[in-house]
Amino acid sequence: MSASLIDGKARAARLRASVAQAVTGLKAAPGITPGLAVVLVGDDPASRVYVANKVRQTEECGMRSIEHRLPANTSQDELMALVASLNADPQVDGILVQMPLPTHLDTDAVVLAIDPEKDVDGLHPQNAGRLVLGAPGLVPCTPQGCVLLAREARGGDLSGLDAVVLGRSILVGKPVSLLLQNENCTVTMAHSRTRDIEAVCRRADILVAAVGRPEMVRGSWIKPGATVIDVGINRVPAPDKGPDKTRLVGDVAFAEAVEVASAITPVPGGVGPMTIACLLANTVVAACRRRGLAVPDM
Ligand code: NAP
Repeated sequence: MSASLIDGKARAARLRASVAQAVTGLKAAPGITPGLAVVLVGDDPASRVYVANKVRQTEECGMRSIEHRLPANTSQDELMALVASLNADPQVDGILVQMPLPTHLDTDAVVLAIDPEKDVDGLHPQNAGRLVLGAPGLVPCTPQGCVLLAREARGGDLSGLDAVVLGRSILVGKPVSLLLQNENCTVTMAHSRTRDIEAVCRRADILVAAVGRPEMVRGSWIKPGATVIDVGINRVPAPDKGPDKTRLVGDVAFAEAVEVASAITPVPGGVGPMTIACLLANTVVAACRRRGLAVPDM
């Protein structure tokens, strides 16, 4: 068997087009332009690239982008004051503080300070709680992207399927598990203490790998016909490309998995592109909910 590829770039482009259409509608009536504020502290090169992409895609969707670049030596008080001003700014519907923050800053305190109604990263404990309750809230972007791609591969309905989520991080594993439960999957969470993890994985109709271990999941771990969502982004040496060259691989050994699964996300080009698209969708959701408006279909 050779699995079909789940094209995250194409799915993300469709979602961005829906977001842009929703924004056009909100601008026409009731005359709102959703605004996303992105805060970057310091000059981490990877974070700078992420922020530039977020700003560009926000503008391409017709939304207002508000960018704050702060020096690496910004104090906790200065950052908290900026978050407070963004919370109070009626033009700002979503606030994203780019992580990781410099180590002298208290990340948890910053996340807690963000107005939960503007927490488009979905990291505030109120939004995490809403996810547990299955209540409407703002859902973390990468996990939401995983579920959209799984739905895409399975024709929209995940009900009754056995899902295994490898990894239990706050950012990815836990929210993916909750979202899949909300999709009526039977979910098993596996992690570094799980016994016979290979056998656990082999039960999965949907296998989500979010461990940050290059190509840990082998073909023999995968149930024939499974849908595989590979969240991992790992940079490994690529001596075939030349000395000091690297390439990106996922948490799944792709060449083996593709022979067993029925559908699989590539790395890159799978889950990665979905993250920003879901962030943009969350900004529209926040803009509508804050004003008591119905959220448009996206
Ligand atoms: P993380 O916080 O390091 O969590 C890793 C999880 O994997 C932990 O729950 C850990 O278990 C588990 N784990 C580690 N080694 C394991 C092993 N040998 N066997 C079983 N479980 C193991 O990582 P994360 O933030 O969730 O990210 C996971 C991956 O997704 C990374 O490659 C990251 O770069 C990628 N990622 C991609 C996107 C995107 O595409 N936009 C976004 C976020 C993250 P314990 O809890 O037992 O330690």
